[in-house]
Amino acid sequence: MIVVMSPHSTKGQLDHVVKLVEEMGLTSHIIVGTDRTVVAAVGDKRMLDKGALENAEGVEKIVPILSPYKVASKEVKQEKTVVRLSPSGALIGSNRIGVIAGPCSVEDRQQLLEVAAAIKEAGAIGLRGGAFKPRSSPYSFQGLAEKGLKYLAEAREKTGLAIVTELLTVSHVEMLCEYADVLQIGARNMQNFMLLKAVGEQSKPVLLKRGMSATMEEFLLAAEYIINAGNKNVILCERGIRTFEDYCRNTLALSIVPAIQRVSHLPIMVDPTHGTGHAFLVERMSLAAVAAGADGLVIEVHPDPQHALSDAAQQIDPQQFQQLMEKMRRVAAAVDRQA
Ligand code: PEP
Ligand code: MN
Repeated sequence: MIVVMSPHSTKGQLDHVVKLVEEMGLTSHIIVGTDRTVVAAVGDKRMLDKGALENAEGVEKIVPILSPYKVASKEVKQEKTVVRLSPSGALIGSNRIGVIAGPCSVEDRQQLLEVAAAIKEAGAIGLRGGAFKPRSSPYSFQGLAEKGLKYLAEAREKTGLAIVTELLTVSHVEMLCEYADVLQIGARNMQNFMLLKAVGEQSKPVLLKRGMSATMEEFLLAAEYIINAGNKNVILCERGIRTFEDYCRNTLALSIVPAIQRVSHLPIMVDPTHGTGHAFLVERMSLAAVAAGADGLVIEVHPDPQHALSDAAQQIDPQQFQQLMEKMRRVAAAVDRQA
């Protein structure tokens, strides 16, 4: 339910409503809009005493939330969520398209610093790179672990780029928070509910990738877990889904971008790299994603893609990235976005 406060309600009346909601065993989320404040009361609706809330001073009305996801939905919050990647970092969800780029895996110090400098120069705002890799085979390169995180932190020192890296297990939350600015939940963990709750209980922004067989509703319910646990800074990322098609690694479902924007206030990025699995498709699908209204792009860039220790077929090199960024700016301008 959404408790809509009247425009003249006081802070004391708002606090009272929050207290009532929490006494009912529900979670309250205060959303301050441009013209009024609402309290979303979420949880088991059998616990909700609508009459008591309706009767509280300063309450204008109680409105049911019809969608299965509540705090991720536009019914609760009309204004778009804008996420700051790091305290001094750039935004995702504003009019400006934000690009996060970097290698699939952090491989060594030189590789990372070289790519970080190049993507910064080309206009990226975030540096991605896996230190803990979710690999299909246990025999594939698994990442440099904490050493990789240290290189990422050094790259931030040198470039000012926000660091985005994947979290694989709840037991690594503290370690990753020490080095990273944004925690990435990968496609394979989109429904790892303990992990979703854990990133919801800390304050760094979360980049949530769509599960490879997740529906839009399941994707938004995964985001709901994070917000419901207390972290509003969620960025969604479409990265392609599994279909019968096998000429590319995944089928990049770009229609989810406007579809999500219709029902949710959360920003949505697109990863055309994992979404296609082939370097030659990355530029065109990046342009298509921006044309479709994406708030940003996540792109794998490697100084020497053919020798990459993971995802060699799909990474582009810094020069290709720079060209992509130039074309992307022209498409962004055509759809009234900055880049
Ligand atoms: C990644 O971005 O490094 C990654 C593993 O992607 P995904 O979770 O989308 O497969
Ligand atoms: Mn990869």
